[in-house]
Amino acid sequence: MRQNAQRSRGGKHRKVTTSQTSKGRVALVAIAAGAASSASVGGATAAQLQADNAEETAAPVAEYAFAANAVAIPPVEEAPAVGSSALGELSPQILPIAEYKPVTGLETQLDKAIKAAEERAAADIAARAPSVARPAEGVFTSGFGMRWGSLHAGIDIANAVGTPILAIMDGTVINSGPASGYGNWIRIQHDDGSISVYGHMVSLNVGVGERVHAGQNIAGMGNEGFSTGSHLHFEIHPAGMGAVDPVAWFAERGVAIS
Ligand SMILES: [Zn+2]
Repeated sequence: MRQNAQRSRGGKHRKVTTSQTSKGRVALVAIAAGAASSASVGGATAAQLQADNAEETAAPVAEYAFAANAVAIPPVEEAPAVGSSALGELSPQILPIAEYKPVTGLETQLDKAIKAAEERAAADIAARAPSVARPAEGVFTSGFGMRWGSLHAGIDIANAVGTPILAIMDGTVINSGPASGYGNWIRIQHDDGSISVYGHMVSLNVGVGERVHAGQNIAGMGNEGFSTGSHLHFEIHPAGMGAVDPVAWFAERGVAIS
């Protein structure tokens, strides 16, 4: 606008000094800020005022007045950004507000839909969650913890030789055979990454790579390996972890061991 004003005013502006031009710019800023609120000052009027102000500022008194005005206008630094585009932004800012209520309603509907979807997903997960089976019936004879100077990494459940040993969850057999201390062992990797371990069995009903299901009879209880009586030694290793207390692990899944 300033350049247009200079052209329209012809040679008159060629006399304007640099300081006057900058003061004129300050005046235009103030006008532009005013235009943002009144939205009625046209560009031509603003340019006219700017040009007139530039002439008036030739007087030292007016110069002070403009300097004072420039400071007195609170948002002088921010006003240009707002004022220069205020006319363009005001309409888009108002229109979306009118359209905002339907959007709010849509959000509510989406929230309900999302909540319903989440509830269905939770129900599906619950339905597909691996049921957890107690690994053997019998007498709980030893818990998880330090025993005889070393960690007893599982629990012992005693019963007669041949008592069914059950897979605690769906999974894949990763070991089935002789193992030091365990006599025979079976290790099952479950779908959540955890591994269950069964020891001392007298008979093995599943082989490595075999898919098993929760509650499936995988072996017969025995007294093999480091054992002083027919019992199952059972361990649970959550994904990425060492053995944890099976009693607490089962309790979290609603299965009582002892
Ligand atoms: Zn044991």
